[in-house]
Amino acid sequence: MGRDIGASFQTPKDVVTIAFPRSDGTASRRPDQPPTPTDGSVNFFRPVSSREPAHARWRHEVAMRMALHVPSLDKSKKYILAAFPDDYELFDHTKGSRDNPRHDLYLWGSKTVTKFRSVNEFVPHAIWLYNHNTAANCGCRYCSNAKGQGEISQQYGLPSHLRLEAAPVTIRRIVRPALAPAPEQRAASQRDADLRGAVAATRRYRIGEVAWCQIEPPLASPDPNVFIRWWPAIVREVRLKSTATGRKSVPGSAAEYVVRQSHVYKMQLLGVLYHYTVPEEMMLPYLAYAPDPDLLATLREGKAPVPLSEDLRELAYFFPMPTPKPTHFPDLEENSTLRQGSWEDALAPYGLALQVAAYITTFWCFTDEWEFKAKASKSSALPAPSASTSAAGESEVIPSPRRPQSEWRYQGAWWGNERIWMDDLVRLHPYRDQIPLDELLPESEGADTRTLFMLVTGMFITHTNDRHKGKIAGLLYELAPEGWKDPTPSKSPSKNVVIEKDFAVADQPLSSPLRRAVPTIPGQPPLQYGLPAPPRGFVFRLITPPGFEVILDIAMVAGRYYSDLLESPAGHLRLQELHFDKLGIPGAEELVNQADLEPVLSLGGLAASFGSKMGCQEWKRTRQAMLTSADTLSREALYTLFTNSDVKTEDPMLID
Ligand SMILES: [Zn+2]
Repeated sequence: MGRDIGASFQTPKDVVTIAFPRSDGTASRRPDQPPTPTDGSVNFFRPVSSREPAHARWRHEVAMRMALHVPSLDKSKKYILAAFPDDYELFDHTKGSRDNPRHDLYLWGSKTVTKFRSVNEFVPHAIWLYNHNTAANCGCRYCSNAKGQGEISQQYGLPSHLRLEAAPVTIRRIVRPALAPAPEQRAASQRDADLRGAVAATRRYRIGEVAWCQIEPPLASPDPNVFIRWWPAIVREVRLKSTATGRKSVPGSAAEYVVRQSHVYKMQLLGVLYHYTVPEEMMLPYLAYAPDPDLLATLREGKAPVPLSEDLRELAYFFPMPTPKPTHFPDLEENSTLRQGSWEDALAPYGLALQVAAYITTFWCFTDEWEFKAKASKSSALPAPSASTSAAGESEVIPSPRRPQSEWRYQGAWWGNERIWMDDLVRLHPYRDQIPLDELLPESEGADTRTLFMLVTGMFITHTNDRHKGKIAGLLYELAPEGWKDPTPSKSPSKNVVIEKDFAVADQPLSSPLRRAVPTIPGQPPLQYGLPAPPRGFVFRLITPPGFEVILDIAMVAGRYYSDLLESPAGHLRLQELHFDKLGIPGAEELVNQADLEPVLSLGGLAASFGSKMGCQEWKRTRQAMLTSADTLSREALYTLFTNSDVKTEDPMLID
């Protein structure tokens, strides 16, 4: 998507075509043409002809993704859809300046789905149409009724395609906390350090998170295309390290070393008893990497050691590094020996590590509870949030019958493999136009194709009819092109906003709307941390009206934002693995798979975050409970897999 719709794409040679045996298409499902802009710019939908390169690129990428999940297709072959399902049509939304408009592709035609915005979105629906002999429901984000993520879909960390639960979106006027801090309410100790590290881009990872460690050199298999370079691990300790990187002579003074400070992390590799100290440049955020199909296929053929205990303890003594130091193994049992072993020996421990990491992404919890007391005012009550129609068409009112003067809030959360805090800027996974609030500023150019952000101002739990829901409050930001000017004056809050005139906050105009809008933990100044840097060429644009915060289901959080990842050595290496440098090069561009690339770009905000989110579903009491559950469940699942491998009839990678 963007300026270029893939003009240079060439269909690969020896490609096998896939035809859909059925369709849910209707010719009546087509976009409405928007009104012609009066400012000389363009804005229209154009059907993309099947002879255009962009059409072929979509059909190729959908087919290649389908082949990963449909057992009857051969993963080693190259595929392309012969056509989209009957009555489907690909449209190019052309919008912006007449000379250089942007082009965004959407697939229209399904009776049940308005439009698919990306290859990633359409793939589960395409698999469902293709598997016409099954009674299973469609697993795409729009059709799926399945709330649970089957164990089988987590096998080896496969991304799942879960429906966004009907989650109401509300907006309310911000209430500031009472100024006097209660003595027992203090900021969580890690929070301050973590937030400073994120805003200043000096420290990327947080204690307790799961991230990928680079194995150097990679573990090599007999096939040069299959190797293990990234191993998932838990951050146990962070240290600042000073390195003298060079020497420069200053005239008239002594020679000086140039000292550079960077962080090194003590990492506990998952699945094995191995601690590893690794510099930040050799780590990736969990969502930046997923094993490629060739590696997954190899893993599924991996054999476990024989004999094998039920808790798989035999796998723990594998170490993936070439030269381990004995001091790195504090957990080593007596009389146990470490072995580096062969490529074959690596497969089962690595499979276990991937499985544990994948399970952790399904768990979440709030941490560091504190009592939020509203600033005293005539009504002495928290404002009731107003209801609004949700993305799924339902609506919900959060009742506040007793008008409480205080509520329990949380300073932090464990969100899958990541640690998030109040005052963090987090990525949301809905698209910009899926937040159905009229009060938000109109979208800036192309914002729908980039990540939507929230600066977290509060985390709390609502209790409605015995259902407990995690909620997150905050200010919404989008990424606007640098120098973006709003063409129309912004709307004033109207329909969904409860105006609480009695509140002290409404009487205190401050110079910056942002400052006024950010409440803090008692005793701390507003907007203490600020925002991290936006990606180059963009600015963070506040789209909530001044003085208001938006409340979302916490399930809409995709994960953390990594401001400098894409420009870091590890980020470069990952982009290289995905052939990012081939974009736009005729003949080489077919190596680029947008569906793999976009999740990585979204960690830096440059693509929408739908394809790059934690799959959190189950609440756990503590971080330790998450890690223990993930470990136990993974060992059970893999033990079953290993011991039943002879009678296994189904492809364990199957999504449905
Ligand atoms: Zn579907």
